[in-house]
Amino acid sequence: MSDYLSGSLRRLRPYTPGEQPQDRTYIKLNTNESPYPPSPGVLDALNRQEAADLRLYSDPEAGELKAALAARYGVGLENVFVSNGSDEALNFAFLAYATDGRGVAFADITYGFYPVFAGLYDIPVHTVPLREDFRLAVEDYLGLHQTVVIANPNAPTGLALTRAEVEQVVQGNPDAVVVIDEAYVDFGGESAVELTGRYPNLLVVQTFSKSRSLAGARLGYAIGPAELIADLERIKYATNPYNVNRLTLRAGTQALADRAYFEENCRQIMQTRAYTARRLEELGFSCTDSRANFLFARHPHLSGQAVYQGLKERGVLVRHFDGARIVDYNRITVGTRDQMEILLQRLEELL
Ligand code: PMP
Repeated sequence: MSDYLSGSLRRLRPYTPGEQPQDRTYIKLNTNESPYPPSPGVLDALNRQEAADLRLYSDPEAGELKAALAARYGVGLENVFVSNGSDEALNFAFLAYATDGRGVAFADITYGFYPVFAGLYDIPVHTVPLREDFRLAVEDYLGLHQTVVIANPNAPTGLALTRAEVEQVVQGNPDAVVVIDEAYVDFGGESAVELTGRYPNLLVVQTFSKSRSLAGARLGYAIGPAELIADLERIKYATNPYNVNRLTLRAGTQALADRAYFEENCRQIMQTRAYTARRLEELGFSCTDSRANFLFARHPHLSGQAVYQGLKERGVLVRHFDGARIVDYNRITVGTRDQMEILLQRLEELL
């Protein structure tokens, strides 16, 4: 039996998704979902007719959504790639731009899927340590020979580079593709999308999972120069041309149109983030300066495991991080103000 299986695949350590409990209801602050439902327009759009049309394949070109994204960003259709979650766009980017032997460079503390994609395709990894206080430093990303992947804001720290800093990285690696993963950019970060028209080596990836409340629909996209986008399309047409289903395409197009709802939710989450950080600090926690829809926090007298476990027993689910350089941190998704009040109450009990 083992003769049929590739050795390197067996050594691959797959990505472990955050807990998605199906047995009981938690205040779920562990996987950075939105606490708000998709816009009312999205709920209306997913109607009986749309369901009846599921007998038909989805549009492999994702034409309607692509046109809406192109219009939003002032780019051409050839500059947009639509994916099944941004994970898929990132996966394809690793396969497209880093399997030629050059390898990939990313931070030692960043999104946990990057090492998995690298492992999947046997891509050599150059890790760039974060600075003190988990800061990403531009100087560490200049003149690299590998494909560069940066989550901006970074996860799980929430710290962000400015657009000008991203531009320095792009200019500093003229021979390498730079992929900027902007999953959390809508919560106070600076997007690099507007730079994509000027640099042949910049690809920006975004998602509908967080700020547009569509994590369960699985929808992401990439914006970049036509040549880079064509590579992603080539992989899509070689693997799964109908990569995004009909309901999701419809929901995404509508979510993009409902701009006021999106902006209000982002504003609300940023306001709740500031409030929660302040209250956590009053309880003795220190928090990073997060530009994402989560807080990254540590308490001097409580282990990250104790916070996680104690909260879970009290019906609140958060993430616990412990690694070589991250000791005793918790990542807490910003929920509604009411959810945060309960979180803070439960933490007070624990302390
Ligand atoms: N990038 C980062 C940094 C993330 O944290 C996530 C969410 N886990 C993703 C990408 C992928 O999100 P999705 O596939 O839901 O678009």
